[in-house]
Amino acid sequence: MSLIPFEGPRVSSESVIYEFSKDTQPVLHLESGQELVFETCDCFNKQLDLKPSIQNLDWNHVNPATGPVYVEGAQAGDVLKVEILRIELADHAWMVAGEGVGSYGSHLSDGLHVRRLEIEDGELIWDDKVSFELDPMIGVIGVAPADRAINCGTPAEHGGNMDNTMVREGTTLYFPIFVDGALFAAGDMHALMGDGEVGVTGAEISGEILLRLSVIKNKRLESPVLVDQDDFSVIASAKTFDEAADEAVRIMVELLKDKIDMPTEEIVMLLSLCADLEVCQVVDPQKTARLVISRDVLEAYNYDFDPSV
Ligand code: CA
Ligand code: ZN
Repeated sequence: MSLIPFEGPRVSSESVIYEFSKDTQPVLHLESGQELVFETCDCFNKQLDLKPSIQNLDWNHVNPATGPVYVEGAQAGDVLKVEILRIELADHAWMVAGEGVGSYGSHLSDGLHVRRLEIEDGELIWDDKVSFELDPMIGVIGVAPADRAINCGTPAEHGGNMDNTMVREGTTLYFPIFVDGALFAAGDMHALMGDGEVGVTGAEISGEILLRLSVIKNKRLESPVLVDQDDFSVIASAKTFDEAADEAVRIMVELLKDKIDMPTEEIVMLLSLCADLEVCQVVDPQKTARLVISRDVLEAYNYDFDPSV
């Protein structure tokens, strides 16, 4: 049963990767500007749907991303624009927390615990006291890196497991392209996740994503950026959160100083005044930060990363 009715290309959740690699054969070729639907598995590859026991989980088959797809005309040094047009979710989610995982895992000693959460009338039910409005987001999204394979659990300059709550319906992401065709893939949706993902999971859920993928020539990036209605943000991942934060700031300054006629020190002041440094996640093999600034401020200096959105 498809959640998003769509006449165009559709990539099934049977076609998944566990690493982003230039050597993976694409499952589909598409023209720049084309829309398509990705059917995605939850981060446990639906294993818990078959057997809701964490003991039997095959950890070699977690964090699948659907794809990869080859975008015609994409070449190393270009930018891939990814418009997230629509997200639809399954009717239940899974969470895991416990010994050895997440920010509190070193204080726990009773293995991993698992819970199934239902979605009813558009709300995620936690218990009989608390339920939440859904805020669907995509955890793993990115392109093939240049010269190494990166497993889907790890975020880096190619995107990957960034677990950024801002990657939701209506937002547009931009990735540096490292290989011909870009080899884009996405998966690991969450019905809801708090910034940081402190326990190592959000409400992990399968679903479908309607995307439009376009190649932008003559634009360079070194790490993903995101544009939504209000804000422009740079996303950076590194071994520690401190390093990721510094990278996000550095990359933002690099982007702005070419475009805004202002001494670099004053650009730094402006960021210090009105940009927010925020946590994407602190629980994956690399940590992810974002630096978020209002588009209105940038537009006052005639800087708009992509005037078409
Ligand atoms: Ca994730
Ligand atoms: Zn996830």
